[in-house]
Amino acid sequence: MRLVEGAMSPADPAGVEAWAAGRLSVLRRATVREHPAGSALWTRLPLIDMAVHLPWLRERLLRAGGTVEERVVPDLTAVDAPVVVNCTGLGARDLVADRTVRPVRGQLVVVENPGLRTWLVSTAPDGETAYLFPQPGRLLLGGTAEDGVWSLEPDPAQAAAIVRRCAALRPEVAGARILEHRVGLRPARPAVRLERQTLPDGRAVIHNYGHGGAGVTVAWGCAEEAAALAASS
Ligand SMILES: Cc1cc2nc3c(=O)[nH]c(=O)nc-3n(C[C@H](O)[C@H](O)[C@H](O)COP(=O)(O)OP(=O)(O)OC[C@H]3O[C@@H](n4cnc5c(N)ncnc54)[C@H](O)[C@@H]3O)c2cc1C
Repeated sequence: MRLVEGAMSPADPAGVEAWAAGRLSVLRRATVREHPAGSALWTRLPLIDMAVHLPWLRERLLRAGGTVEERVVPDLTAVDAPVVVNCTGLGARDLVADRTVRPVRGQLVVVENPGLRTWLVSTAPDGETAYLFPQPGRLLLGGTAEDGVWSLEPDPAQAAAIVRRCAALRPEVAGARILEHRVGLRPARPAVRLERQTLPDGRAVIHNYGHGGAGVTVAWGCAEEAAALAASS
């Protein structure tokens, strides 16, 4: 995780502060040079490179004495553990028949970084978002949010539109070499499910899924709440 400065529009300090709980630093109006929207905020936010972050989390678990076993769980009662924590995201639709969990598809374009060191986020009045996040050795361009769409195939038209929107913010991006197309499905739900239940054999199951487009942001808080539910009787 790195703390990186950047600019976001529209500039609504109250709205941003509401979700950042007063923890944002360097909060000021961005200059037009920093963000072409003319009305944007300049601040410093944590940027996570998931390709590094997930192996780091796994290593942390192993060092703490945990083990990792990868397999499909057809039924929660089949899990051999005194307490079961269900973090299956979209898989909860089948595993616990929760049809309120649905995908919100997101597509990204990964390009060679033409020299950006700061990030940029811009949300148009129609809700369409363009963002540029510098990561080590590359630049992530986004993004899309398609409710209820399951396809993991990159859409070339969407990729072109993403590059076009980002190039409108930073013209040097227009000719950047494309390294990769990425698609992910956010596991959305009307509200995150953090709940304790009892399996037929008396063991506890803690549900912790449905984090939508903010699962990384809220991961530690939800994990603490899940651990508290596991400890309660
Ligand atoms: C394009 C994009 C951009 C995003 N940007 C951000 C961001 O900026 N900030 C942020 O906080 N979040 C962001 N997110 C959202 C974030 O990635 C998710 O909220 C998060 O990954 C959810 O984590 P999870 O572990 O709950 O679910 P998942 O990551 O979906 O993991 C669920 C796991 O459970 C496994 N599983 C399911 N069913 C079973 C079963 N029956 N047996 C065994 N295993 C099973 C699946 O294989 C999967 O590995 C973004 C997502 C996308 C797609």
